[in-house]
Amino acid sequence: MERKQILATTSLLVLFVLLLTNCKPKSDSDEDTLLLLAVAASRICANSAYTGTTVVASTATLDTNTDCITGMTSSMSADLPAWIRNNFKCAVGSVSGSNYVFRSQNIPNNKSYYFGTTSPRYEALGSGQKSAGNNQISSQCFVYTIPSSPSPKSGSLTGTQSGYASVGITVNGLAIFNNAAAPGDTLATEAQTFDQYNGHPQSSGVYHHHSQPINVSNNTADLIGVLIDGYPVYGLKCDNGTAAIGDDNTPGTVGPALDSNHGHTAATVLFPSGIYHYHYALDATATINTLIGSYFHGTPGTVSN
Ligand SMILES: [Zn+2]
Ligand SMILES: [Zn+2]
Repeated sequence: MERKQILATTSLLVLFVLLLTNCKPKSDSDEDTLLLLAVAASRICANSAYTGTTVVASTATLDTNTDCITGMTSSMSADLPAWIRNNFKCAVGSVSGSNYVFRSQNIPNNKSYYFGTTSPRYEALGSGQKSAGNNQISSQCFVYTIPSSPSPKSGSLTGTQSGYASVGITVNGLAIFNNAAAPGDTLATEAQTFDQYNGHPQSSGVYHHHSQPINVSNNTADLIGVLIDGYPVYGLKCDNGTAAIGDDNTPGTVGPALDSNHGHTAATVLFPSGIYHYHYALDATATINTLIGSYFHGTPGTVSN
């Protein structure tokens, strides 16, 4: 009895400390908080109830069944639309009211220099590339709340450099970063630190893509992910025909020319009746191709980590 009380008290203390110190997402609903309360005592990450155990980069392995890092939960709820359900993985997706919610541990399912040399997922940098210091990939606690019925924002647009933890999520569950580099650098220079899949981590281990994720799209019209304003982002090419790469074409040849936010409204394979979507395209600020420009077309949802 006494031992039980001690255990209960310890659990409560651990829970309290975790609640105080964790990355408790602002966007969590009350329902999520209840779940969080149920599991927090044994978890490191507030969101890990949905995304499995914390992944240790140095020992990470790939689960060949899910094509995600072992220990990551990968599930898309049945009420999500097919374009998400059939294309997104290595994250937990659900519908909450008028939003899609994605929770991601943000560990890449590609190899990377930034797993560290002792990791089975290590791969040397490509020729001419240089290391981004001691930055290494680590598990995150991303929660994205993204409008399910996006609409163009009227009036002044929201900047993509307004302090978001991430501006979108790739189909393999990874953070999309904006067209800016860390202060004092340009993205064109920072691109020299990308691994062989065009990603790199920042100083707190958040692996991210400014550029096309080679594991997902390599100069094709494949779906790359969704930005937090709810509009999808595609590769370098546009495709209103079939899923085959042969009929992928340059935006502007397919559909109207891209606007200054890298987007246009055109039919795609997943949206035959047409939708506004972004493309991986040359960005005036970055002076290289990026997944997003300086502004969102729609009204962004929220992101916490
Ligand atoms: Zn970066
Ligand atoms: Zn297009």
